[in-house]
Amino acid sequence: MAGKLTLDELRQAGKKGEIDTVLAVLVDMQGRLMGKRMHIDFFVDGAWAETHCCNYLLATDMEMETVEGYKSTGWESGYGDYMMKPDLDTLRRIPWLEGTALVICDVLDHHTKEPIAHSPRAILKKQIARLEDLGMKAYMATELEFFLFKESFEEAQESGYRNLTPSSAYNEDYNIFQTTKEEDVMRAIRNGLNGADIPVENSKGEACAGQAEINVRYAEALSMGDRHAIIKNGCKEIAWAKGRSVSFMAKWSYDAAGNSSHVHQSLWSLDGKTSLFYDKDSAYGMSDLMRHYLAGMLKHASEITYFLAPYINSYKRFREGTFAPTKAIWAKDNRTAGYRICGAESKAVRIECRVGGADLNPYLAMAAMLAAGIDGMENKLELEAEAQGDAYANPDAREIPTTLRDAIVELDNSKMLRSALGNDVIDHYVHAGRWEQYEQDRRVTDWEVQRGFERA
Ligand code: ADP
Repeated sequence: MAGKLTLDELRQAGKKGEIDTVLAVLVDMQGRLMGKRMHIDFFVDGAWAETHCCNYLLATDMEMETVEGYKSTGWESGYGDYMMKPDLDTLRRIPWLEGTALVICDVLDHHTKEPIAHSPRAILKKQIARLEDLGMKAYMATELEFFLFKESFEEAQESGYRNLTPSSAYNEDYNIFQTTKEEDVMRAIRNGLNGADIPVENSKGEACAGQAEINVRYAEALSMGDRHAIIKNGCKEIAWAKGRSVSFMAKWSYDAAGNSSHVHQSLWSLDGKTSLFYDKDSAYGMSDLMRHYLAGMLKHASEITYFLAPYINSYKRFREGTFAPTKAIWAKDNRTAGYRICGAESKAVRIECRVGGADLNPYLAMAAMLAAGIDGMENKLELEAEAQGDAYANPDAREIPTTLRDAIVELDNSKMLRSALGNDVIDHYVHAGRWEQYEQDRRVTDWEVQRGFERA
């Protein structure tokens, strides 16, 4: 695939003057790339084996606030170092940045060299290892929606992110003419990602003015997490370079649609040749194993919601009649259901979880879903009957938490997630969630001021 590099190929590219910079990055709790820009000589001489960073990178909030109260680090322990261990399988060119390559690093304890349990990549790797023990691997695809604006990030910031102009005039769902207006950015994104070892399937317009979706080919779960993190960063960088801005907020405006990250998933034999979700003789081609996996996802839907919707803003997306599902039910090819069956009757039969927003951390979301699915398989949970019709209008359908506050309680109380991910890991993210809630609880919003300033 274009863009993938071995260490040796990187060396050669350096000698030819094609690459002079290597980004060594980890993925933080928010799913962002954080790290250093290295001179290629420094990287190939030795930094390819390890580098370091401050351990607060896995204990800050969206705004890099040094949140107190984490067990793993803090002012008391002096915010020491983590070791960043480049995963050379992720080494690739970044075509939209001149002379640049990128590698994603695992986060290890500086002294013991053990993985940091609450680092997003380690959390996902643990669930992948559990699957491997069961003789399976997961193929995943995390679709990403976002808004593209005519303003640059700097202009958007200056205006307080108000009165922004979406890149197209009206609902552009599948609309070729509207998306033609965005081709200066979207074509660069598609081709850029394709040249960075991320095979793009397509981009398309979505159901609001200025809203786009990018779809890339499914991959093993860890690779998909890496792709997702690079796609988000890449879309921002490419838009920025063209004097434009994008937003992956779950809901950037009351009047606009929300941004989703639907997650397609299927389980396969370790050699990747046999779909374990497919049984040609069963309804919709769904194997018993797939039914158990899905039953696990539904049973634990409330507990995993935090990892699909980690911020206050994430819950603003869950509105009836918006294609953002509020009900944890399953159905074939029904976009009002939280869990949709796609590719029925074929080897591509899979589950699409439609609950998550584009603000989710893909590693955490995939890990939580796998943990729920594994629980379903291990306990051979029985799948309930398929939901019929409009899920929004079904009063009996299982609800997922509709506020962050409720989702944190569900996360905290989840025996399944505590056992699968580890107590310290859950405590870490419960703390992150509570901080997010606390920050919101004490803020005065624009809406409150406009509503009450004169009238209260
Ligand atoms: P949609 O109707 O949601 O747009 P698509 O057919 O475009 O569905 O596929 C969406 C995503 O599902 C793509 O990223 C594709 O690579 C991925 N996908 C296809 N087959 C599988 C599979 N067996 N397991 C996981 N993801 C898959």
